[in-house]
Amino acid sequence: MSVAAAIQIDQRVKSFVTKPRKMLVGGEWVEAASGKTFATFNPASGEVLAQVAEGEKEDVDRAVKAARNAFESGPWRRMTTSERGRLIWKLADLIEAHLEEFAQLETLDNGKPVVIARVADVPLAVDLFRYMAGWATKIEGNTIPISVPYTPGAQYLAYTLREPVGVVAQIIPWNFPLLMAAWKLGPALAAGCTVVLKPAEQTPLSALRLGELICEAGFPQGVINIVPGYGESAGAALAAHPGVDKVAFTGSTEVGKLVLAAAAGNLKKVSLELGGKSPNLVLKDADLEVVIPGAANAIFFNHGQCCCAGSRLYVEKEIFDEVVEGVAAQAKKIKVGPGLDPTTEMGPLVSNEQQQRVLGYLEAGFAEGAKAVVGGHRAGEAGYFVEPTVLVDTSQNMKVMQEEIFGPVVCAVPFQELDEVIQAANDNIYGLAAAVWTRDISKAHRIARELRAGSVWINCFNIFDAALPFGGYKQSGWGREMGHDALELYTEVKAVCARL
Ligand code: NAP
Ligand code: MG
Repeated sequence: MSVAAAIQIDQRVKSFVTKPRKMLVGGEWVEAASGKTFATFNPASGEVLAQVAEGEKEDVDRAVKAARNAFESGPWRRMTTSERGRLIWKLADLIEAHLEEFAQLETLDNGKPVVIARVADVPLAVDLFRYMAGWATKIEGNTIPISVPYTPGAQYLAYTLREPVGVVAQIIPWNFPLLMAAWKLGPALAAGCTVVLKPAEQTPLSALRLGELICEAGFPQGVINIVPGYGESAGAALAAHPGVDKVAFTGSTEVGKLVLAAAAGNLKKVSLELGGKSPNLVLKDADLEVVIPGAANAIFFNHGQCCCAGSRLYVEKEIFDEVVEGVAAQAKKIKVGPGLDPTTEMGPLVSNEQQQRVLGYLEAGFAEGAKAVVGGHRAGEAGYFVEPTVLVDTSQNMKVMQEEIFGPVVCAVPFQELDEVIQAANDNIYGLAAAVWTRDISKAHRIARELRAGSVWINCFNIFDAALPFGGYKQSGWGREMGHDALELYTEVKAVCARL
């Protein structure tokens, strides 16, 4: 593992983590009603990084009340859409101005390499807010010609209004802490909703720093409330809260189902972005110079902690050995180490729990007959590191082939027939993403139609853009984030009909 010198920590980051962080409720930074705090850890060392106010039911009640007041009677409601858009844009500018600080906070809290957070997490969050700022002025209804057979001769003016859905609860995971906050907040704010955001217990810091910039940008009090805490208490209270109109959740399919059940009480609207087990199909005519680094990146980006990770690599038989050797060679080359080391290419997993989960999957795979061409173990003594791993001799029914591992582990499988591989690719409870690599462009588009997934990449992987909708088929979720589809999650349609 790497021992090179870490980067200099930004003074503002240092002071941010040394003070216990409060929660943002109604525009004020407050302690938890109980006075409790919880610790977040630096996954590169396992040491305590910061203390954070622990939100529970009472805090959630206060935050929902603040969001309700802001929605119903605050200046937010009276603001023009242009003003709303400018506020969101201003927030993007502020994040950009503090890019290095956010990158370092993400690295300290989540473990990811700072060089990645600088070019991916933070700029993508900035871009998402800018994209959604533009939508604030473009959310429109339609005028609709109507006939009404039982009122012959009458004339009507009928039109639709697209209105904000109301008070929104947003529960996010730890894999891209700032970016997930952006994916959730951007469209909700563009639509004119008010929000209570609960970051993941493992990674609350960047959301709390974002809260400070939200205040600095000048959003009216209570429009965005941020309540850190545990899923079982703060998260569950939000999902069940009768004062919440809609809940948006990203995380495991298991918890997604709990959120859905909790939301049933007041039939709040629900959108879910859940797990995946994305198939990555390599055809024998593909350009292997592109495929090999592409397939490695598909699984190893963010240490495999991506809901869309290309974790099932199906390779046409004739080129199987060459591709597996190539991806294994890439895996071997990856420099694993602390994220603050600027030469690190892969950091630790986010938590001890996550490291144990991934190692548990590896054991289960080996017990069922899988073999590691490379990797297969934890790395280093301290911190939550796992070696980049390529498994072979896996079969479709094995646990490692069916379940989401959420770590740097890919299962490589040879195939002969296209029909069979498409069937195998679709043989999973998830349907978040998929990819196909080939030089035959018609074949690529035909396969794209056959794959049951919300995103299909052709000759690339992990390509995201604020304008491109993202979300899952099957048990990978409900609804689409990003793009204009995301606005549907945060708006209601009102039909207005006037007799003339
Ligand atoms: P998780 O429990 O689903 O966490 C996601 C979010 O939901 C967190 O903010 C969590 O709070 C909250 N939560 C937990 N229980 C809740 C409940 N009963 N009601 C409302 N909210 C609740 O995910 P995890 O435990 O961190 O990770 C477990 C597995 O989930 C991973 O191994 C991976 O397979 C999958 N995962 C998927 C994604 C994705 O992007 N699709 C992201 C992360 C994880 P806490 O932080 O307090 O738990
Ligand atoms: Mg959890």
